[in-house]
This record gives sequence, structure tokens and C-alpha cells, in this order.
Amino acid sequence: MSAPLTNKSTDRSNLAVFSFSFYCDICGKEWVSPPVSFDAGGFSAVEHKETYQMIWEQEHKAAFEHANLEAHWHFNNCPKCGKWFCDNCCDMKGKDDNGLCVECAKK
Ligand SMILES: [Zn+2]
Ligand SMILES: [Zn+2]
Repeated sequence: MSAPLTNKSTDRSNLAVFSFSFYCDICGKEWVSPPVSFDAGGFSAVEHKETYQMIWEQEHKAAFEHANLEAHWHFNNCPKCGKWFCDNCCDMKGKDDNGLCVECAKK
């Protein structure tokens, strides 16, 4: 499993739905990934609990990778400190959009 994009992330998944939260490294603003339903690999009935669990874990992992990738579109990466931050924490004062976070822009 890849490391979560942001410092803080939460797994909101349950047995039926996969969803993950990612938080802005600066202000902690939450972004929730669109929920993905668990479809048991397309099988209508899975007899064994172990098999079911195994499929769930696989889909859970895949759903996380997908959400983690999608999080790149919702957060900006500061070229200076490497933090992933939300649009609210983006420095908009500079004429050039150099994409610094507000913390680095202050310095
Ligand atoms: Zn923020
Ligand atoms: Zn920064």
C-alpha cells in the first residue's frame, strides 16, 4: 500500500463501501474520496468468509490507491516544504503563481 498523500488520512471504509479522508497538511481541511461500493469481485454470493474477507481486502487496497491518486487533484504540493495543502492555504498574493503554501510565502 502506498503512503497516504497527506500527513493525516482516515479510513472511512466499512464492509459495504470504501471511502477515505485526506486532510490538508496546513489547516487540516478534509477531503473525502467519492465512496466506492464493495461488489465482492462481481460474485453474487461468496460462500467462504475467508474468501470474502480476502476479496474485500484486495478491493479496499485498490480503492485506497485510487483515492490516494485522486487526492493529488484536490491538494497542491508546495515546492519548498513539500507539504500537500488545500486551495485555502495557497499563496495567492504573489503575481506569479509559484504554488507556495501560505507558510512558506510568509517567510
Ligand atoms: Zn488548507
Ligand atoms: Zn510550503
